[in-house]
Amino acid sequence: MKVPFLDLKAHHAPLRGHFKTAIAEVIDSGIFAGGPAVANFEEAFAAFCKCDYAVGLGSGTEAVWLALLACGVGPGDEVITVPSTFMATAEAITYCGAKPVFVDVDERNYTLDPAALANVLTSRTKAIVPVHLFGQTADMDPILKFARQHGLVVVEDAAQAHGAEYKNRRAGSMGEIGCFSFYPGKNLGALGEAGAIVTNDLELADKIRVLRDHGQTRKYHHAVVGWNCRMDAIQGACLAIKLRYLDRGNELRRTHAARYNSAFKEVEEIILPLEAEYARHVYHVYAVRVRDRDEVMRQLERKGIGCGVHYPVPVHLQQAYVSLGHQRGVFPVSEQIANEFLSLPMFPELSEAQIEFVIETVTETISAGAIA
Ligand SMILES: *Cc1c(COP(=O)(O)O)cnc(C)c1O
Repeated sequence: MKVPFLDLKAHHAPLRGHFKTAIAEVIDSGIFAGGPAVANFEEAFAAFCKCDYAVGLGSGTEAVWLALLACGVGPGDEVITVPSTFMATAEAITYCGAKPVFVDVDERNYTLDPAALANVLTSRTKAIVPVHLFGQTADMDPILKFARQHGLVVVEDAAQAHGAEYKNRRAGSMGEIGCFSFYPGKNLGALGEAGAIVTNDLELADKIRVLRDHGQTRKYHHAVVGWNCRMDAIQGACLAIKLRYLDRGNELRRTHAARYNSAFKEVEEIILPLEAEYARHVYHVYAVRVRDRDEVMRQLERKGIGCGVHYPVPVHLQQAYVSLGHQRGVFPVSEQIANEFLSLPMFPELSEAQIEFVIETVTETISAGAIA
């Protein structure tokens, strides 16, 4: 048997007919950049996130970037985030001309450690970008409290956490702005590139609407220098269809994770993902921690199990950021988990047989000294 890491074909197969109809409608409408198909999706996605407004964009990276710009982040500012994330979180900070300032993550939930915030606060600190890694939110209450105390804005990177919850609040709805990616592999993925922000602040939503459309307040009247970050109408139309299946998909991911957890808790060498007491984890990624990760992964791949590593190099040690001057050892948790993380197949359409095969193969590979 072979189990792919991700099977988008299986994910999309039952929806093909709906996609064809929706795409044909966009073609007939003649409106391809923004327009009613995007507005429809925005309304539905805002409701899903329990927020007042959503603004559709071209990618999740643009979402974080424009969110920070709308909050007034600019050159000379510092923005606190974590090194244990996808590069885009830090890139978006850099695009604003601001400096990414890292704090380590908590070893249990792999998200921003609120206790570390006080160590890096300066007079230039403007914002905090917690990352809801793998589908579980950061511990938001202490982060929000710290931000209020020090006059900072909170922009949530919820690119991996569509539908995740923190104490019954939806990911993306707690800070000033929440940022989402609809990259195809995300829990809610487009048939191409797309992203969005959600917010309860009309002024911020309007600023981002202007920034995404060349700074236009009215056609050919440009209040500021903006960019082209509009969402494709075809993506909006297809995302509206896929959104209807998101809750079911997240439930299936949770069921699969529970099955993995109950099997792997018998294997001493595996550190399981932990669902915090405050969280509803939506398992964008099911990552365990193992020693000799690269060798385990080689063996699993050879036996037909698709694996991933999210992420092998923490952002502060990326070559692109050598100018920040971080040495190995400064963020020990992020560095350790980067060496140990192993992502196993996780998508709603995983079959029982596939899950059992993954469990059997991983258990046999890791226990009984299969790894020297
Ligand atoms: C995917 C992702 C992004 C970027 O989204 P794109 O749509 O690929 O630009 C940002 N942050 C995190 C944590 C992500 O996983």
